[in-house]
Amino acid sequence: MSATVTVGDTTVACAPEQTVLDALLRSGVWMPNSSNQGTCGTCKIRVRSGAVDHRTSPEATLPATERDAGFALACQATPCGDTVVERPRTDDGRDRDATHALRDLVGTVTEVRDIAHDTRRMLLTLDTPLEFSAGQYVELTVPGTGVRRQYSLANTPGEAKLLELHVRRRPGGVASDRWAFGTVAVGDRVDVTGPFGDFTFDAESTGPMVLLAGGTGLAPMKSIVRQALSLDPRREIVLYHGVRTAEDLYDSGFFRELEAQHPGFRFVACLSRESGGDREGYAPDAFVEDVASAKEYTGYICGSEAFVDSAVKACKRRRMSPRRIRREKFTPAT
Ligand code: FAD
Repeated sequence: MSATVTVGDTTVACAPEQTVLDALLRSGVWMPNSSNQGTCGTCKIRVRSGAVDHRTSPEATLPATERDAGFALACQATPCGDTVVERPRTDDGRDRDATHALRDLVGTVTEVRDIAHDTRRMLLTLDTPLEFSAGQYVELTVPGTGVRRQYSLANTPGEAKLLELHVRRRPGGVASDRWAFGTVAVGDRVDVTGPFGDFTFDAESTGPMVLLAGGTGLAPMKSIVRQALSLDPRREIVLYHGVRTAEDLYDSGFFRELEAQHPGFRFVACLSRESGGDREGYAPDAFVEDVASAKEYTGYICGSEAFVDSAVKACKRRRMSPRRIRREKFTPAT
């Protein structure tokens, strides 16, 4: 049965089995979203009228009491007939109507390169360009499986036919270990859906920026930093890259070159398990040591859940306004 979803003044069609989030984003209608896996709760909507099938919505993110109170996860729920929903409020108070429309594309793997002991850079060339904002991610369908996994884009929106991905190996992982570190070959054709996510560069902000990246959380930062510097080459930006040991570091040379070209940009490599790098210890701690007050800063944080939680605390400790803190958690698939 076909259905519609209405949010605000906009109504879109929703095909059978299509989630509320997918229907809205494909029509270019914005809805807060992050993991698209039912694990983060960013797209928790209130159903104003009509009904939804919650399908695989996890109890941990959407407890029974919330379902009974009319809440649903837009990335999991499918409408049962015509449904009116309300957008959730975002932590940073953002609200807008339009977004880059979600699309299904096909890419060809053109390069696979080891860049750290457990990290690979993969370049894919798309058949048609993808419109996205710096910081967003795509979902790949891992070839030979029906499995979908999310990877942030390290390329800039100006490089719209290229996808630069940084993939960290997870032992036994369907996407990372078995494919990206296993069977992948140049020439592989890969189904790609995107762009997703609200972890985007804030082009309206003008003050200093701090970026805190844990591991491959560096990928979206590479896009965001270049986007910011292309708009204001003298912008005050500090990027902390937190990893365990020197062999986890990658792309440091790239960021050193940016430092040489841009007087306001600083790159700080933080090693938590050995000496060396620019700093010993955790990246959020280095930021707290360096910056007495972050009131004027905009913060961008990306990495594992633990890294993001600790970096958000660090930013708040230094009085950064919660509205100016943007974050992306690399949550594992359920
Ligand atoms: P799976 O088959 O899902 O898992 C294999 C094993 O590894 C399991 O035991 C699982 O519990 C464990 N595992 C998986 N992930 C983790 C983890 N994060 N921490 C601890 N144990 C784990 N990853 C990148 O490398 N680069 C990116 O740019 C990137 N961007 C992402 C963006 C978003 C929005 C999200 C939600 C995730 C992102 N990820 C990124 C994570 C990525 O989507 C996969 O989850 C990751 O590559 C593991 O997938 P897999 O299929 O190899 O492992």
